Amino acid sequence: MQYHLNGFKPGNYEVPDEVREPYPNPPIEDLPDEVDVLIVGTGPAGLTMARQLSEFPDIKTCIVDMAAGPLLFGRADGISCRTMEIMEAFNSSEMVVKETYQLKQNTFWEPDEANPENIKRTHKVADARAGLSEFTHGIVNQARLHELLLDGMERSVTHLRPHYSRELVEMTIDDSLTQDLEAYPITATFKCCDDEGAGKTETVKARFVVGTDGARSKVRKSMEIPLLGDSANKAWGVMDILLNTDFPDIRIKSFIQSKNHGAVMTIPREGGYLCRFYVELDLLGKDKRASDVKLTEQDLIAKAQKIFHPYTLDVKEVAWWSIYEVGQRIAERFDNRPVDSPEEVIPRGFVAGDACHTHSPKGGWGLNTSLPDTFNLGWKLASVLQGKCHPKLLSTYGPERRKVAQQLIDADRELSRLVATRPTAGDDSDQAKVDTAKIEAFMKRQSGFVAGTSIEYFPSYICTGQENQHLATGYHIGQRFHSAEATRVADGRVQHLGHLVKADGRWRIFLFGDKQTPTDTSSEAYKFIDFLASDASSPVLKYTPKGADIDSVIDTYAVFQQQDLSMQDLPDYLWPAKGKYGLRDYEKVFHAEEGNDIYDLRGIDRSQGCVVIVRPDQHIAAILPVSAHEELAKFFDVFMIEQE
Ligand SMILES: Cc1cc2nc3c(=O)[nH]c(=O)nc-3n(C[C@H](O)[C@H](O)[C@H](O)COP(=O)(O)OP(=O)(O)OC[C@H]3O[C@@H](n4cnc5c(N)ncnc54)[C@H](O)[C@@H]3O)c2cc1C
Repeated sequence: MQYHLNGFKPGNYEVPDEVREPYPNPPIEDLPDEVDVLIVGTGPAGLTMARQLSEFPDIKTCIVDMAAGPLLFGRADGISCRTMEIMEAFNSSEMVVKETYQLKQNTFWEPDEANPENIKRTHKVADARAGLSEFTHGIVNQARLHELLLDGMERSVTHLRPHYSRELVEMTIDDSLTQDLEAYPITATFKCCDDEGAGKTETVKARFVVGTDGARSKVRKSMEIPLLGDSANKAWGVMDILLNTDFPDIRIKSFIQSKNHGAVMTIPREGGYLCRFYVELDLLGKDKRASDVKLTEQDLIAKAQKIFHPYTLDVKEVAWWSIYEVGQRIAERFDNRPVDSPEEVIPRGFVAGDACHTHSPKGGWGLNTSLPDTFNLGWKLASVLQGKCHPKLLSTYGPERRKVAQQLIDADRELSRLVATRPTAGDDSDQAKVDTAKIEAFMKRQSGFVAGTSIEYFPSYICTGQENQHLATGYHIGQRFHSAEATRVADGRVQHLGHLVKADGRWRIFLFGDKQTPTDTSSEAYKFIDFLASDASSPVLKYTPKGADIDSVIDTYAVFQQQDLSMQDLPDYLWPAKGKYGLRDYEKVFHAEEGNDIYDLRGIDRSQGCVVIVRPDQHIAAILPVSAHEELAKFFDVFMIEQE
């Protein structure tokens, strides 16, 4: 898809340039008095939280932002493979894939040894993330990603829409109420910022609050959570431009180091014409902020032109620009409980996204870490509010995501040192030149982290079974369920199994059968299905409310090595009757595809098979032998609540 030929136009890229309009601001409506979950901030973290909760009609959610309407320009633009996978869980990956610039290559430019005033390409390499996911790292306006999440919210059963023009000015949590799950311990006061409401305040009472209100988070400050780390900063100029140039790699991501004028990183953008430039600026002085840097977009262009010598940059339009500062900081804790609280203490306030970790834009990690924060928290909060899981589950959010944030800060510190010509604050190295070979090596080594695909959660009671890792060496316990294809028995369709794990709060059990046919009643696969379908200790029977569809809490899929199966010969449990007519679900059984065999691709033990338990956020919770019925029951018993 090509767009922005005659100037940058925000909005829905499915609409042609000539008639595209910015996403409209929704009408102003009064805030509700009481809600289950209050979300402050409509960045990627807040919208992902809201998008997740919008799936549940029994949860009352309110999302608020002080901006007048949805974001239109700028900010982050890199969409990691993992973020793409999460968008697939929301059924929105197709448009992201279609509209994004697909990042396939990187080039590296350094001063030409023969003529050091000029830059010269040293090498061009394939992007190190290739093959880590069925999705490619893409580049698209952050605002467009917001729109897809907003559209999903609007179309959901709850038709959830944000309230704009409301600034959080005060928030308290009544400690005497926090351990009563039914209570509303949070009181949040908002100032109306629209013309009509100016001066008015509104108060919302909430059972839980999620602070996704960015780096200067009021929610975080209200919970007295300190930020740890460096606030001292290096500034980078960032601009999205439409230009003509004779630089040959303008449509490839490029790291460019000049001899005397600093460095530029260029990232081609969606639509075929737009390009983002990150231009290295000087160190900020002590106590200075990016807003103190008195440069204009013309200064950024002039600096880039010097770095690109002998190539020319003829900038036709600056769609967006900003001076963006680098500081690596992390919140001491990600919820309102004191440090080292026992897991039984119920957290009622959370911070996510930039509200609890900030860093430079160079790795493209801001959006891509913020969005998975709330993808981790969303299902946990929903299942506690719905009475499916014990509230202690909420205590797992902080440790799981803080570990990722710490890895991010460490990686960003390293990359900042490699990419910055001049030392960053707090960096005592005397490095005076970007070493592009080191950047390349870093990108290779960190490719899984940069792609988001190697993010893994601690061994904990929701990530277990490490002793069985050998049963499926390609499914890493704690990491996301790496999708691969299999053929559906009922209709022969080839299906990505990872795409079955939607963001609907359900757990998934994937049974990979052993060498014996599952129609044989003595096979482990048959016995496993029989256990799930009829044993008193079956988690499916214990935790599914009576009268609900059998897959509404734990959804089971089976993959077999045998190619000649017929649904009618398999146990009823694998093609259950559902809904008001009791219609059969034919989409739960697969066989391995010849030539693209999932057993080979994911290192699954052919003679024993295995069971893979997948969390609602697509991370692998456990791997078990097919015969481990008791262990499976015990896994769920730790945190789930038996249903009537
Ligand atoms: C100016 C700027 C430029 C950036 N440039 C880049 C870039 O070039 N590359 C890159 O990778 N990343 C960039 N980022 C970072 C990236 O956008 C963030 O990492 C990402 O958006 C974080 O998402 P989030 O949801 O945590 O918070 P944010 O996207 O920051 O969203 C926070 C939201 O909270 C709202 N809010 C804040 N306080 C209140 C309040 N008191 N009451 C109500 N609402 C409130 C804000 O209006 C905002 O909409 C930039 C960020 C900023 C702010």
